[in-house]
Amino acid sequence: MHMTTGVYQAEYIWIDGTQPTSKLRAKGRAVALGKEPPIWGFDGSSTGQAPGDRSDCVLKPVFVCPDPVRGGDNKLVLCEVLLTDMTPHPTNTRATCVATAKKYASFDTWFGIEQEYTFFSGSRPLGFPEKGFPAPQGGYYCGIGADEVFGRDVVEEHFAACITAGLSIAGINAEVMPGQWEFQIGAIGTPDVADQLWVARYLLYRIAEKYGISATLYPKPVRGDWNGAGAHTNFSTRQMRNAYEPCVAAAEALGRKHDLHIANYGFGIEERLTGFHETASYKTFKYGVSDRGASVRIPWQVAKERKGYIEDRRPCANMDPYVVTRLIIDTVCGAASEPAKAAPATKGAPAVKRGRR
Ligand code: ADP
Ligand code: MN
Ligand code: MN
Ligand code: MN
Repeated sequence: MHMTTGVYQAEYIWIDGTQPTSKLRAKGRAVALGKEPPIWGFDGSSTGQAPGDRSDCVLKPVFVCPDPVRGGDNKLVLCEVLLTDMTPHPTNTRATCVATAKKYASFDTWFGIEQEYTFFSGSRPLGFPEKGFPAPQGGYYCGIGADEVFGRDVVEEHFAACITAGLSIAGINAEVMPGQWEFQIGAIGTPDVADQLWVARYLLYRIAEKYGISATLYPKPVRGDWNGAGAHTNFSTRQMRNAYEPCVAAAEALGRKHDLHIANYGFGIEERLTGFHETASYKTFKYGVSDRGASVRIPWQVAKERKGYIEDRRPCANMDPYVVTRLIIDTVCGAASEPAKAAPATKGAPAVKRGRR
């Protein structure tokens, strides 16, 4: 009998080409102990990433951490997808994210992303009865007890697994709709926050799988009077962490590029951002202090301390964090880098209007 010894199990994880929302793929490989996980490949014709006659795609490890599911020396290996000439694959959104983060490195941007998600058992959200609906929303958010929260075992195991993997998980909470939960990654820089969010998503799917439950990122899993699932993206630059005016300027800059951001914040955003259920309509941009019905919220502590960060509430649960963090950096740091526009060049037409709600 042949025994494979002196190796660890490396689970290679990558983002595929599924439309309209890419999903994760993963496969395992034995790697010699003490060796870094090498470049690998996969059949791109089965993942929406290549035609059948030129099917080879390249997996390049970009983020490696302990595998809390397999334990021991085993590792999770998040990869970016390259073409065989080693240039980024068209579905690779990480490469441009890295380039933008590098361009504006002097801003020292931090992100804290709140990932909401919904457990499904079969075709119904976990906790929904076979027929009809559960009691209306009200008691489920941060609820306790078998009549209020559904899937706690998975949530707890996932929380612990993220810590074991060394991810910067900030916390977890039960959400407004039964079967809906949230975890937060950050505050850390990008692409780290995005790498870690993808790995945390992987761990969520993988752990839920053991329980026969699926975790989903649909932005509006149940029509009607039920909250959607978002990925509020909290963001700061060094300037914002030190003063209030840059926080307001960041909100204003996001407002000037509203449509571009909405178009890239996750498929199905029109269904979620209705103007109800703690959202602002996707059609309009507004920001405000403590306003959970705004597109961008300035937390009350930030207004009080006159420094900190802002929360972009528009991104959907199914957003690509490489795309969202890149766009926010581009928009906010780009605007802050234009001194001619930031200063009131023409009398009566200041580019930065302060205090508008
Ligand atoms: P909410 O009150 O909207 O539910 P959460 O507590 O769920 O907020 O998430 C807030 C997130 O914002 C956390 O991940 C936290 O780390 C992050 N955060 C805190 N300060 C900053 C900052 N200065 N820059 C970016 N993100 C931050
Ligand atoms: Mn939250
Ligand atoms: Mn939430
Ligand atoms: Mn939030």
